[in-house]
Amino acid sequence: MNILIMGAPGSGKGTFSNRLKDEIKLDHISTGDLFRENISNDTELGREAKSYMDAGHLVPDDLVNRMVLDYLKNKMDPEADGYLLDGYPRTLAQAEAFEEATKGTDLAVDHILYLDVPHEVLSKRILGRRSCPQCGEIYNIYFKAPATENVCDKCGHELTYRSDDNAESLKTRLEDYDRLTQPVIDFYNDRGLVASISADRDFEPIWADIVKELKK
Ligand SMILES: [Zn+2]
Repeated sequence: MNILIMGAPGSGKGTFSNRLKDEIKLDHISTGDLFRENISNDTELGREAKSYMDAGHLVPDDLVNRMVLDYLKNKMDPEADGYLLDGYPRTLAQAEAFEEATKGTDLAVDHILYLDVPHEVLSKRILGRRSCPQCGEIYNIYFKAPATENVCDKCGHELTYRSDDNAESLKTRLEDYDRLTQPVIDFYNDRGLVASISADRDFEPIWADIVKELKK
């Protein structure tokens, strides 16, 4: 079974990817990891990607496509019952190229899981996150606040937050995500492949919807 998992930052992709891997033996591929592996192994694709990144440019679609296909065709875990692709395709051009390259093969996509969460909720999840630098406990000021403001319940240490998670930059990140991703979702919707899953809920009902979808 070949699955694409899509969703904005904070939508729970990581959590559900991990659960999927526990249930089905899928090769989980994130494009971020693919870049890092190719670069650290100094492959031809890695060197090419690095030249763009060093110059402060985005890696072009064509190179991303080649890197993903290279992995799926040559490096995929032979024991896996399919792939779980995370963070790809990110643009319409990538989706079109990927379809062209995999159509009619056993690398074609079977299911697309889109974790749909309103921006307002994503913002609270991300901006409300606090963590304890001493014991590692995670809090959220909106959903799981500590008993005393900014103090860890477990060890009493002061809580910290990630400085890059400010409201303005997050708003831009979410808007960029939608702008690039909506055409990808429309593309796959036309092919009847997208399961849009309302992911502004607790874990269990979301997971139940995912299981139901994958049985189709
Ligand atoms: Zn603590």
